Amino acid sequence: MFLREEGHEGGVWSAIGTPVAGRCCRSHPWQGPGNWCPVRGWGWCFLISDSPDLTPDRAGVGDSMPVGMATGWGSLLQDEQQLEELARQAVDRALAEGVLLRTSQAPSSSHVVSYAPFTLFPSPVPSALLEQAYAVQADFNLLVDAVSQNAVFLEQTLSSTIKRDSFTARLFDIHKQVLKEGIAQTVFLGLNRSDYMFQCNPDGTTALKQIEINTISASFGGLASRTPAVHRHVLSVLGKTKEAAKILSNNPSKGLAMGIAKAWELYGSANAQVLLIAQEKERNIFDQRAIENELLARNIHVIRRRFEDVSEKGSLDQDRRLFMDGQEVAVVYFRDGYMPGHYSLQNWEARLLLERSCAVKCPDIATQLAGTKKVQQELSRAGMLESLLPGQPEAVARLRATFAGLYSLDLGEEGDQAITKAIAAPSCFVLKPQREGGGNNLYGEEMVQALERLRDSEERASYILMEKIEPEPFRNCLLRPGSPARVIQCISELGIFGVYVREGKTLVMNKHVGHLLRTKAIEHADGGVAAGVAVLDNPYPV
Ligand code: ADP
Ligand code: MG
Repeated sequence: MFLREEGHEGGVWSAIGTPVAGRCCRSHPWQGPGNWCPVRGWGWCFLISDSPDLTPDRAGVGDSMPVGMATGWGSLLQDEQQLEELARQAVDRALAEGVLLRTSQAPSSSHVVSYAPFTLFPSPVPSALLEQAYAVQADFNLLVDAVSQNAVFLEQTLSSTIKRDSFTARLFDIHKQVLKEGIAQTVFLGLNRSDYMFQCNPDGTTALKQIEINTISASFGGLASRTPAVHRHVLSVLGKTKEAAKILSNNPSKGLAMGIAKAWELYGSANAQVLLIAQEKERNIFDQRAIENELLARNIHVIRRRFEDVSEKGSLDQDRRLFMDGQEVAVVYFRDGYMPGHYSLQNWEARLLLERSCAVKCPDIATQLAGTKKVQQELSRAGMLESLLPGQPEAVARLRATFAGLYSLDLGEEGDQAITKAIAAPSCFVLKPQREGGGNNLYGEEMVQALERLRDSEERASYILMEKIEPEPFRNCLLRPGSPARVIQCISELGIFGVYVREGKTLVMNKHVGHLLRTKAIEHADGGVAAGVAVLDNPYPV
């Protein structure tokens, strides 16, 4: 075998071969002899360069079959002509199914639209990890809900971050104002998506590791409901009926709409509407429309408005009922408001108005804060889950099993140690600010430079450090409008959609409602579909 590993249990590694393509330890850049991975506690391994059949997707796989080959379409990816014909069919089916985005040239208009980028084939996902991700979703719903109700935990956790991160500070300020006035809202709705990658261990086993949980504006539930038909089509064209039948049905938009409908019903005003806070330039409108359409089918009307509209035409009555254009609002569903760039002064005022109202906000400001990276890092501390979910040791164990290494960068010894570790082994870590939407994290040399700059500054508390997950790459073909089909080395990220509804102290709904698989080229460290990096996909259980 081309990969030799020595001394995993201790001692200093000796170079036993020339590093190939600058990689060792599956996909970490070669660090030189004697280095240790401080995260996983095993030493670097070196690829021997004299192996003629060494291709990147074989690297580090050992003698076990690469996951990418388990699907059976490895050979299809080599036949360019067949791929082109398949791609044409797949694109036409995607358009017919409504796997659509507005174009970047005209993001406010639906006159000309195109297909959302997607993979030609579904990608391999270990069935056990898919099941595990589904099984832990109700626990994550509970956890988010518990954090959102724990003002003391939120204050303690975010105290260092809000000193240096003005966006989180602004959200926190609204949270405090609402608490001070008294929370008028009595029904709470969470629509979240917990995202994972599949860590590939040195012994060839894989583990489900959470990347983050999105508690605001978790997207692609609508389009993910339409992609299974596209992949089934591709496999059927190839006569692979058995394989086509393995593609799971998926309908997150229906489940998300059911959550909104339940919250709307509990609000208890037959004429009240759902207010969807939208951006003016919204390429992903068809994803949102899928949920709107489901609601309309239940006779629940959705109005789309911007924050600016709320500040001009929104109002509260003396009971803090929310009115928009004179119509009562039962549920406010945010598909905006998760990035600093989404807020002008006027928009912050609109957000405060919405938060003060008794309408069901999805999410309310505390739940948005519960989704910050700083909260994620603090939740991984020993004893923290136990104190937030008392008497639920099984849920705690399920949750903890999905946690990757997470490290505080607050000023002090613990943060100093984390910085030293990350600078010593940059390829093992990701530096994350309190931001959403992709493209904000720092990796490798850029991370080292940032850490050196931040080392003595309070500003470092606005970041967290995370273990870098290393999935096993596989090959697939990515289809994007305007680009030729590309067969490349990929990795995937699995998201599970969760829905919960609470009335006062009583949880009346808590479930998972579907999944999203996104796949991207291995050379992109960061970024989702909206950022133009990842594409839509379906899990092919292996
Ligand atoms: P955002 O809120 O911007 O989506 P994420 O934490 O999801 O932030 O990170 C963005 C992307 O960066 C992810 O989709 C994933 O591709 C990559 N990423 C994030 N954390 C890790 C990690 N620990 N290991 C490997 N890749 C990561
Ligand atoms: Mg993300």
